Amino acid sequence: MIPIKPHAYAELPQDFYNLQNWQGFDNPLLVIENAELKKDLGLENIDKQKLLNIFNGSLSIESLKPLSMAYSGHQFGQYVEQLGDGRGLLFGQIDSSAGLIDIHLKGAGKTPYSRFGDGRAVLRSVIREYLCGEAMHALSIPTSRALMIIGSDEMVIREKSETAAMLARTAKTHIRFGNFEYFHYNNKPEYVKVLADFCIDNYPPYFSKSKNKYEEFFRSVVEQTACMIALWQANGFSHGVMNTDNMSILGETFDYGPYGFMEDYIPSYVCNHSDHQGRYAFKNQPYIGLWNCSALGHALSSLISEENQDEILKTYELFFQNKLAELYRKKLGFITSHNEDAQLIQGLLDIMESERLDYTNTFRNLSQALTETKTNELNSDVAVSWIKSYQERHNKESKSIAKKISLMNAINPKYILRNYMAQEVIEAAENSDFSAAEALIEVITCPYDELEQYEHFANRSPEWAKNLEISCSS
Ligand code: AMP
Ligand code: MG
Repeated sequence: MIPIKPHAYAELPQDFYNLQNWQGFDNPLLVIENAELKKDLGLENIDKQKLLNIFNGSLSIESLKPLSMAYSGHQFGQYVEQLGDGRGLLFGQIDSSAGLIDIHLKGAGKTPYSRFGDGRAVLRSVIREYLCGEAMHALSIPTSRALMIIGSDEMVIREKSETAAMLARTAKTHIRFGNFEYFHYNNKPEYVKVLADFCIDNYPPYFSKSKNKYEEFFRSVVEQTACMIALWQANGFSHGVMNTDNMSILGETFDYGPYGFMEDYIPSYVCNHSDHQGRYAFKNQPYIGLWNCSALGHALSSLISEENQDEILKTYELFFQNKLAELYRKKLGFITSHNEDAQLIQGLLDIMESERLDYTNTFRNLSQALTETKTNELNSDVAVSWIKSYQERHNKESKSIAKKISLMNAINPKYILRNYMAQEVIEAAENSDFSAAEALIEVITCPYDELEQYEHFANRSPEWAKNLEISCSS
């Protein structure tokens, strides 16, 4: 028995989706399978080849109803009327120990929403998505995850000719802010309500059937979004394409494109080289999160009054600030909270910015400052004076130094996914060598450990990689 069942979304009215056949590859190839995730989903008894055949469509599961979802959204601030799953489909749902989990297949061929696209994804982009999902998961940032990459000998045209591949991924939901916008802007308030009710019924404990259930639904989305973005900021993650069609209503990071983990601390860092205005720059993400929530609020205006929306949107900043302050305090090794903390944190960020320090390594090595006057990164006059205030602040904490170090090492990663690492893995994979991917996955899934054989992965990027441009075409 294969425990993948039709998605509950297939019970919604026809306007919500298109029931979908899909197009597997003639010569499918297993690139990588996520054994740990497979086990979490209770699929461990299905061998790799069988699972590949299921996703490739060579082995059919009866009664399954794969579907492409209809949605729209704001892209770079402009409303785009029709988006939808142009190359993906909601394959089914698994009742796992972690609750109901969506299985989505990306790059599975054309759908009614493909417009001029070919319905395919390229090996480069699905490897990047696989790696980032695992890296984010290991950093405890809510995220979609990849279950399997299926390679092919099919070529597709992007900026150049590239190999096509499919990605099977999991997420708690694939309902985006854009699903609501689609019905709102199509003048179908009755479907906005159907969709909100669907979410409230299907995603406990995120949403509850309280008296003001629509307000509470919106409040919860706002809270999850603010917390997700606080986690991005604390970990130096830049999404790159924060369009409302890429925002999950459950606050999970997904639709990885030209993302990047920031290396040198540059708040205006833009990872997507097609983002000429820098709309989605690292430092803008918190504000864009709020902007996206207000776009969702607007789409819910048939259910929630403007006044109530405003009241709920006001909570965003509070959730965000509190969460980020808590994360930064932990990164600095503080258990308690004191008035001077905000200033101390800002002081450190200012030094990192003016001295172009590596964001990850500065935090990872900060515990050296508990016992020394300098750290590997913090050694300028300004930094040394900051360390003095930092040590004074630590006198207010009662834990032992050893305990503080272990707590700091459990929140400040040693290894992050730097773009050049993904690039090296992609180049090897394009030459049919998947071993580099496996090694990198070992590292990014244990970001807090000391891995002697992988010490070099903790270094800053080599010179050649500094100007690596990540293409949006995927
Ligand atoms: P993304 O930038 O991946 O979030 O995609 C934005 C929209 O373009 C979504 O509606 C996608 O389904 C669609 N899209 C992206 N690439 C393709 C493609 N190769 N074929 C068809 N649709 C695509
Ligand atoms: Mg998308």
